[in-house]
Amino acid sequence: MSSDIYVGVTRTLESITIACRRAGRNSSDIRLMAVSKTHPAEAMVEALRAGLTLFGENRVQEYERKSRELDGVELPGAPEVHLIGHLQSNKAARAVQFFQSIDTLDSLRLAERINEAAAKAGRVMPVLLEVKLSSEESKSGLSPEGEETERLLEALPGLANLKVNGLMTVAPLDDDPEVARACFRRLRQHRDAWAAKHQRLDLHELSMGMSGDYEIAIEEGSTMIRLGTAIFGARETPV
Ligand SMILES: *Cc1c(COP(=O)(O)O)cnc(C)c1O
Repeated sequence: MSSDIYVGVTRTLESITIACRRAGRNSSDIRLMAVSKTHPAEAMVEALRAGLTLFGENRVQEYERKSRELDGVELPGAPEVHLIGHLQSNKAARAVQFFQSIDTLDSLRLAERINEAAAKAGRVMPVLLEVKLSSEESKSGLSPEGEETERLLEALPGLANLKVNGLMTVAPLDDDPEVARACFRRLRQHRDAWAAKHQRLDLHELSMGMSGDYEIAIEEGSTMIRLGTAIFGARETPV
């Protein structure tokens, strides 16, 4: 086992415990997702051996390849892998086949395509709605005040092969931690408002917080933090 990943996991779990204590939260209420994008399949194996079970991958094709590599490898348990990168509608069927959750649902059209693909595969697909709370052009996600969002929220209870669990966001890169805090707080406020208005939807999950801002996300009510760099070290190819 490469001790680097083991050390990364151990250190990260320690700082999560400290952040939870400071925020008055129970660390068992926050799931740690290891973001393994750009890292080889062996990195996932090492993280699994270090006790992690939840993973995030950005691209369907990249994880297809890794999952083939993992076939036949003896693992301590089956990983739960979520798609956390943008999904094109034409890849919905493959995403349904390879992932345990799609955390980047950002349009009604995509919801319909995933629902169809899940129905064909005879399964119910868990999803999170990705909300865009930053003005950065590069970021995808639903605009919280947009019409598309309202139409999607209304349509979701009727899509029988989708199971909505909550919301996800990526905070803008900014040296000022209060920028991320404001973004996380807004996600929680939108969740509260939408949950009150759409009572058939379950929006308990708030996936927010990355290596640079997860302590703040924990203070603001995150239930799932997505850490790449903190666990695996710096990525060679930025994604
Ligand atoms: C890459 C990525 C992460 C992890 O980023 P780090 O800063 O390395 O922790 C989390 N969420 C999403 C959506 C990502 O693309």
